Amino acid sequence: MKTKLGIIGHPIGHTMSPVLHKAALAYHGLNKDFIAWDIKPDELYDFVNEARKVKNDISGFSVTVPHKETIIPMLDGVSIEAEAAGAVNMVCNQDGHLFGHNTDGSGFLRSIREKAEFDLKGKKVLVLGAGGAARGVISAIRNQNVDSVAIANRTVGRAAKLFLELELGHILTKVVPMGSLEMNNIASESDLIVQCTTVGMLGGSEPNKSLIKANNISDKSLVYDLVYNPENTPLLIEAKKAGAKIMSGMWMLVYQGAVAFEKWTSKEAPIEVMFQATQMSGKA
Ligand code: NAP
Repeated sequence: MKTKLGIIGHPIGHTMSPVLHKAALAYHGLNKDFIAWDIKPDELYDFVNEARKVKNDISGFSVTVPHKETIIPMLDGVSIEAEAAGAVNMVCNQDGHLFGHNTDGSGFLRSIREKAEFDLKGKKVLVLGAGGAARGVISAIRNQNVDSVAIANRTVGRAAKLFLELELGHILTKVVPMGSLEMNNIASESDLIVQCTTVGMLGGSEPNKSLIKANNISDKSLVYDLVYNPENTPLLIEAKKAGAKIMSGMWMLVYQGAVAFEKWTSKEAPIEVMFQATQMSGKA
């Protein structure tokens, strides 16, 4: 029987997941469909129960907005990473038992290790943002022996809450207002800047803005913008001007998908094939 994989979300038309996973399935010659299911919030419970009932017919699915948090109580268990992130982005169906995982953190770590060849040990990190993406990134790096983490956010209280919830007491951590002088001073001395806000995103409220200018970016740093549409964001343009190394959010998208693919299929994800598929699709 041809088993299915897929992604659930609402709306779902913009998703890049089918492009990534169909390329990886074809590469390995695996006989599985990858379907984008448009599931409204009030349809989620029925979808989850149906997936459980049909057992291995749906061997797993990715989860995107708005279901990443609300699906948790409907599942049979979640991984430590998903618990720490407070969100599930993929589900494995093991004989009718549904387990939720979060591959954003490990996708982020693998992407900087393998693609940027960047070692986090002893590094000064600045995270811009305190939403879901920032939570995933910070919970992944908190056990990587970094020197320090600074969190800059427009709503400072949200960043402070994140600091407390993620128990960052063992790392030298600072919470600073977005755009402050203190933030710019920290940025100038950071080895890694990770941009986790919606600023610079096409279709967002401030698509043309960079939260940091070139004069506050070190030429020895790595600047990673999680925004992947466009790939060349205003912040990455500033980072290039400063002579810093850059990473597009497209790599995190590919790597979090790769970790999910490996969990579903037990096959090594063809990273370059998946990345090339995103470049050819013209969809982001
Ligand atoms: P979220 O939970 O809604 O958080 C949004 C963040 O952006 C908050 O920190 C918010 O600050 C900040 N923000 C929004 N507008 C701002 C503005 N005008 N000025 C300054 N800060 C502003 O969103 P999310 O899920 O974390 O996603 C954030 C971005 O990461 C999105 O662009 C998403 O596409 C991207 N992302 C990429 C990947 C990938 O695989 N590449 C994975 C996950 C997310 P306040 O707290 O003050 O509102």
